Amino acid sequence: MKVIIHGGFFSESSTDIKTKTAKQEALVSIVKASYEYLKNHTATETVVYAVTLLEDSPLFNAGIGSQIQSDGQIRMSAALMDGTTQKLSGVINIQNVQNPIKVAEQLMPYDDRVLGGEGATNFAHKNGFAEFSTETPERRAEFENKLAATGTGTVGCVALDADGKLAVATSTGGKGFEMVGRISDSATVAGNYVNAHCGVSCTGVGEDIVSNATAAKIVTRITDGLPIADAFEKTFAELKPYDGFAGAIAIDANGNIFHQDSHPSMVFASFDGENIVVFQ
Ligand code: ASP
Repeated sequence: MKVIIHGGFFSESSTDIKTKTAKQEALVSIVKASYEYLKNHTATETVVYAVTLLEDSPLFNAGIGSQIQSDGQIRMSAALMDGTTQKLSGVINIQNVQNPIKVAEQLMPYDDRVLGGEGATNFAHKNGFAEFSTETPERRAEFENKLAATGTGTVGCVALDADGKLAVATSTGGKGFEMVGRISDSATVAGNYVNAHCGVSCTGVGEDIVSNATAAKIVTRITDGLPIADAFEKTFAELKPYDGFAGAIAIDANGNIFHQDSHPSMVFASFDGENIVVFQ
């Protein structure tokens, strides 16, 4: 059993030691709780659990603490993918729910598994998700001051369960200040992809991740026989011509845990039952 989670990018890691420590502590405690959960749950159940905890932390740009778009509103995106069934479900630009990843989970048995905008919000509210504002005073102050938010902080999780099954979940509040209608990578196969061989969750600039097809491409390369480190190296090299900004976490079916970023520094933590690794 293995778990890796990420909390997006954190550009101030060298200067703002207090926030850095808070993020390290939050990631360590969430990765430990998720590993405990994985002992009695599937990989798919566990990635939803981990991402729910990350969405509930205002430190990260997903769920509570999501960034605000150019029109002053928050729209969130999240996706869940099961490596065994090969099904992805997701919500794009959903509003006023606490946990977009749980709405994505609820959509999994439907034929129409990816909903956007008003349709996603209406589905959630009709299916028992209470109206909830994920806005925090910090994000509002950043928006009012036209400041770039304090580092993008999408969240994600990859888990390998006791039966050797893989799953991935990713959730985001977006880039901040984006045009209404902009689509994030997080609820696409570029940002969130898994099969029986490997699972990958991404963070960074959604447009770069979609252009690079990052998660789907890494997983496909591993499926076709490339070792995980080579699959990452090749895919990240392909971001270079346009200085693509991306980070990704992964676990393969052999239990190899991996992460890479194109720019400093993605925040992440992993746990394999013995060793906790956390970003420094
Ligand atoms: N990938 C997200 C997006 O572009 C942002 C992030 O990772 O922080 O919507």
